[in-house]
Amino acid sequence: MTPDIEVRFRACLDDVPAYKPGRPPARTDGRPTYKLSSNENPYPPLPGVLEAATAAAAQMNRYPDMGAVDLLEALSARFDVPVSDLAVGTGSVALLYHLLQATVADGDEVVYAWRSFEAYPIAVQLTGATSVQVPLTADARHDFKAMEAAITDRTKVVLVCTPNNPTGPVVRRDELVAFLDAVPSSVLVVIDEAYREFVRADDIVDGVDLYRERPNVVVLRTFSKAYGLAGFRVGYAIGHPEIVAAIRKCALPFGVSHVAQAAAIASLGFEDELMERVDALVVERERVVGALREAGWDVPETETNFVWLELGDDTMKFAEAVQAEGVSVRPFPGEGIRITIGEPEANNLFLDVARTWNR
Ligand code: PMP
Repeated sequence: MTPDIEVRFRACLDDVPAYKPGRPPARTDGRPTYKLSSNENPYPPLPGVLEAATAAAAQMNRYPDMGAVDLLEALSARFDVPVSDLAVGTGSVALLYHLLQATVADGDEVVYAWRSFEAYPIAVQLTGATSVQVPLTADARHDFKAMEAAITDRTKVVLVCTPNNPTGPVVRRDELVAFLDAVPSSVLVVIDEAYREFVRADDIVDGVDLYRERPNVVVLRTFSKAYGLAGFRVGYAIGHPEIVAAIRKCALPFGVSHVAQAAAIASLGFEDELMERVDALVVERERVVGALREAGWDVPETETNFVWLELGDDTMKFAEAVQAEGVSVRPFPGEGIRITIGEPEANNLFLDVARTWNR
């Protein structure tokens, strides 16, 4: 018999919430199934991107370029920022972990809106720091006045998710600028723009513009959503050189694979084609939102590739009804459901359930 384990783990691990990935759809007697549970891009890879990745796979016996030099140069040209202000990681979530590791520990506080991206409480908890969650407003937006009031001497980092996952609204220019003016310049403000490419509202402020003006602002973006590379795990941070240097110190060596770097570089080369797909998804999003509102649903504004339905106690029942049609969605028990904008057939199956739902 193996003796009892005596290994001691850090106390903060006791309360780490589980990350619940979007489930794959359940099988349905031979009918097609669809995954609308992870905010993925429904389009298959562009041939040119697939070719670049396939060619790169031939070098799998070699470590990737640890400095990701070619990718950083491509991003530098794309955003007109120096390479010293750019870091890449295995998804933007890795960069968030590195930023927190670099800035907070026991006794520190991280302020963010809630509900928001479910990785936030996990990432904060792992550092030993404390999450200070500020409830969203009734229309599912950031409550910046309350966030400002939540900042204390212990606050080291603020996370701003715009547009917000899972509810959809985007942060407006005037509210973000006023908030940043109020935040002490020693507090790091992380602007998570994972869905930036889906935003069509014009009164927003671009995180990249803000980082240029404010050394305490760092922007996180990703190739996972609009660029369709979720499976390859590539995200990037844009921030002041000291912030980027801190990220690099915390990064795992050789994290972003050679194949992923090649696919990301190729994607920047095919950006026009990829953004046409994003445009089509935005048109589809507006169709879905319009249909839901017509059916009497109160849908918060969404500037992302998903919609949020507040369902309260009906959440799991609704999720099961959609799942029975072969479509997986992301339920948050007792709160609501997030549905990714996918193939029109999939969206229609979900809409059929929503239209006939007895509220
Ligand atoms: N930020 C937000 C708001 C997200 O929704 C996600 C993905 N669910 C991420 C960051 C992480 O994306 P990735 O690690 O794939 O770049």
